[in-house]
Amino acid sequence: MLVAEDSPVNQKLIQRLLEKWGHTPVIASDGKETLALLDAGGFDVVLMDLQMPEINGFEATAAIRQKESGDGTHIPIIALTAHALKGDRERCIAAGMDDYLSKPIEAQKLFAAVETAAQLSTGNGRLHIRAVDIDALLKSFDGDRAEAAVDAATRLEQLARTGDLSTADSALAVLQDEIEQLREELEPFEQVSLS
Ligand code: MN
Repeated sequence: MLVAEDSPVNQKLIQRLLEKWGHTPVIASDGKETLALLDAGGFDVVLMDLQMPEINGFEATAAIRQKESGDGTHIPIIALTAHALKGDRERCIAAGMDDYLSKPIEAQKLFAAVETAAQLSTGNGRLHIRAVDIDALLKSFDGDRAEAAVDAATRLEQLARTGDLSTADSALAVLQDEIEQLREELEPFEQVSLS
């Protein structure tokens, strides 16, 4: 997930939220950096601040869509704007963006927009939709909502809060093991459908 945002405060806030939700955000501080990072590839969604130095969000989006017109891909772009003006959403959609959020960022709205966008990302030029069958998933875990990983994360969070990081390495290793195990267990539930 690429976060194009020039405000350090918003960078930090968005990064923290996305990481909390399991995403791996990469920050670009202006439009130029955004385009360079996208050229390198590997992103599923772009959060695009409209007001940025060098190349603004509208210009960067135009460049992205122009490039995509050749290969038929479409990376979801969520616009972020500091000034919620009437007609902004329409302007953003017309400029090739898929969604729009106004600042200050509200966690719940960001979460909803990011989840929707992540469901609709391009893979080899084809649209794919990921879906998890929650009922089947819970059945296979016998109703246990993967508490081991949560426990490990909670333990690490508590260590961070006390400032005692002497055992943080081993706590992190436990968390990584639990997440890896969870990832393997979740894999069969990822359904891919092409449209
Ligand atoms: Mn800005």
